[in-house]
Amino acid sequence: MLNRSLLNIEKENTFSKSTRLVKEYKLAHPDADVISLGIGDVSMPIIEPVRNAMKKAVDDLGSMDTFKGYGLYFGLEELRQTILDNEYKGLGLSIDEIYIGDGTKSDSTNILELFDKDSKVLIGNPIYPIYENGAYAYQRELHFGEVDEEFKLKIPKEKYDIIYLCSPANPIGNALTREELKEWIDYANKNKSVIIFDNVYKSFVESDNVPLTAYEVEGAKKCIIEMRSFSKDLSFSSSRCSYYVIPNEIDEDINYYWKERTTNRFNGTSYVSQKGAIAAFSDESKKLIKENIKKYKDNIKYLREELNKLGYSTIGGYDSPYLWVKTKNNMTSWEAFDYFLTKLNIVVVPGEVFGSNGKYNFRISGLGSIENSKRAIERIKKYEENI
Ligand code: PLP
Repeated sequence: MLNRSLLNIEKENTFSKSTRLVKEYKLAHPDADVISLGIGDVSMPIIEPVRNAMKKAVDDLGSMDTFKGYGLYFGLEELRQTILDNEYKGLGLSIDEIYIGDGTKSDSTNILELFDKDSKVLIGNPIYPIYENGAYAYQRELHFGEVDEEFKLKIPKEKYDIIYLCSPANPIGNALTREELKEWIDYANKNKSVIIFDNVYKSFVESDNVPLTAYEVEGAKKCIIEMRSFSKDLSFSSSRCSYYVIPNEIDEDINYYWKERTTNRFNGTSYVSQKGAIAAFSDESKKLIKENIKKYKDNIKYLREELNKLGYSTIGGYDSPYLWVKTKNNMTSWEAFDYFLTKLNIVVVPGEVFGSNGKYNFRISGLGSIENSKRAIERIKKYEENI
């Protein structure tokens, strides 16, 4: 009695297909100097104050006086309080509404357990594929909404119960403004919908009109569950720690039910990672994190400017580490992937990995090193100037 819905996950246009093709190309061309502009992972190590806190946490586990075992279902109180004080101050939220998770990949789909199985889920196209595949795994009714010319999800006429908004967006690299988010909030409150607001790229926001948290916008506490992660700004992509907020205003019993569920379904994320995450909020850590983010942002800015000079039109790359690039000469996204890989030994992510509307686009990332970006741009320049 296999969950047949899982078969939907096995598709032709996947990230793993592009990874496999790159691997095969490298095997066939062992001398090729392949540069990846596709990476979604970080390329800087964990900062020292956080590492030190993690080492100390390991030592805590070495003595029964300080040992921590089960029981961190919602996360360490110290971490939840630190997040409240640093990230949600003055917004009328309480520690009871904050949960620590083991990553937004799992948080963003596990949250479906909070909602009735008949609830209708709406996502964009293109989109971070995990929401789609999570909805399949949970056998939820899934709908792809229409998008505008900037690939932002349009507010639908019909009612949907759960809407995934990713802002700053992966893969597009743009972000919702306060005004745009307010329109979604009004829609959600009118229709009694809940918005899952994936804000993992919050630290990359630079535009004044983009909210750092959805709760800055009036009415958000009635309909938005906001999710964030330590993966990018703290390089915790293998350490695993994230957090999310379920406001009591959505429903007076919502946190009672979610705590019951969580106590039974989740034994918490690693104590060591949580202690590291607490250390991320010291002044010294904040400064170091800012410096790291600036490097990624300088990188994506460089890629944006150079690609624009080379005649590529792009979206994003201001409030996020990603750039959504239109292919040239009507190439499909897989043709562009092949062109960059075989002619230039550069890896980009085909837009179709993120949905059918990505057919004439590809995603590149500023999460790698600027040195590699410079080498890649030189190659593109040299090659395209001669054709
Ligand atoms: N949400 C988005 C939009 C992402 O791009 C990513 C990772 O790239 C995640 C969530 C996953 O975050 P985590 O590492 O916390 O699971």
